[in-house]
Amino acid sequence: MQIVRSFGLAASIIAAGSATLPAQVAARTGSDSASVAEARALLKALVETNTTHEHGSTAPATRLLADRFIQAGWPQADVEIVGPSPTRQNLVVRWRAPSPSAKPVLFMSHLDVVEAKREDWDSDPFVLREKDGYLYGRGVLDDKAAVATWTTGLISLRRAGWRPSRDIVLLLTADEEGGEQNGVEWLVRNRRALFDVDFVINADAAGPELHDGKVTLFAVDVAEKSPVTIDFTVTNPGGHSSLPRTDNAIYSLAHALIRIERYRFPVQLSELQRAQLTSSIETAPADVANAVRAVLRDPNDSVASDALVRVPHLNGMLRTTCVPTMLSGGHAVNALPQRATATVNCRILPGVDPQTVVAQLLQVVADTAVHAEARPPTKPPAAASPMREDVLKLLTRAVAASWGTSVRVQPTMSRGATDGSYTRVAGIPTYTVWHVPLDPTDMRAHGKDERILVTSFDESVAFARNLIREAAGRTP
Ligand SMILES: [Zn+2]
Repeated sequence: MQIVRSFGLAASIIAAGSATLPAQVAARTGSDSASVAEARALLKALVETNTTHEHGSTAPATRLLADRFIQAGWPQADVEIVGPSPTRQNLVVRWRAPSPSAKPVLFMSHLDVVEAKREDWDSDPFVLREKDGYLYGRGVLDDKAAVATWTTGLISLRRAGWRPSRDIVLLLTADEEGGEQNGVEWLVRNRRALFDVDFVINADAAGPELHDGKVTLFAVDVAEKSPVTIDFTVTNPGGHSSLPRTDNAIYSLAHALIRIERYRFPVQLSELQRAQLTSSIETAPADVANAVRAVLRDPNDSVASDALVRVPHLNGMLRTTCVPTMLSGGHAVNALPQRATATVNCRILPGVDPQTVVAQLLQVVADTAVHAEARPPTKPPAAASPMREDVLKLLTRAVAASWGTSVRVQPTMSRGATDGSYTRVAGIPTYTVWHVPLDPTDMRAHGKDERILVTSFDESVAFARNLIREAAGRTP
């Protein structure tokens, strides 16, 4: 299914219906209701363009956005739609500085979204719905809010007569969520010159965190774990189910999975993880905070680190994790299974060789009947980017303009994975920040009824615009 809505005046008016901005935010950031309404209308058009790998295409989204940039005054030659296939297109927009004072800065987000089934959701995931102060739709958070806010930010700055003091490159890409034609990977390989930049700001994780309705922390992912998927398979001659054998593919696989469940990879803490854990103490319940303190004192304190296994976002910060995500086996109700397979997804700490993780799991399984095969990585393992002082400062200024000076800007390691891994591997310092303030306990990216707060989206419009100004020159 592919729904492409025209981006007409009517759509703008419908979506703009209740766009308002708290006066204090508007005063601090210089944002205005017209920009918010425009961003909201663009988000609606993007959500209603199906960009899933399975049933959609990024091409209509690239055309819709390219038209917006060209209408706003970008030369046709600086707005390119490129990609390896008709349905996996990427948009590349360049805003040339009149006299560049530094290497360009690159902003990026992805256009594709994870599949969503109508029957699983309370409403059609490919129709933007506003209800009870939230915007619902597949991609509202991941990652179409950022696509809308980068676009609206750039366009409103150009309209206002602002000019960058260094070139700006914007990449809006395909296949971040999966598929064989990852846009950033393709662009790095085929359009290397685009990446001759000073640094990358990747709007696909982290960013402003809401606690009790207030932004208190702004996370900047400078590193991320790398995902590796391993298929564990047991084969067996099988036979008639009336004559069970002592060796059984499903039993063998089940035993292997239980051993994997019980195994904990060692706690390994870099300076970055230590700082992130220390920061987590502030908002953690007392027992969790005590366990974190104990792990920081002694990473080998297994009582403390075992206690944190039940806090997934902290456990993922301590160690490499592996978890079964899919299972299949057998071929008939009355036959002994000839094959059983479990898919295990690992999230590996930066600097750890994925091969050593596979070898460790095989050692844990300790059964020569179980075969392991790692799939090709969907994102490459990448070393952490240095937290550059100048980038930290510009982020801090943009954050202060939107949410006040008391919000701490915290370098972090993501437990998830983004296309930032490709730009880090290409040697470019990469900083991943979402724009939309989000309560970490209401994180619905990839899930049912994905949603963001209306007020958060409205604030993110001004934040993106300010971030562009801070990163690409503060010339008024
Ligand atoms: Zn994403």
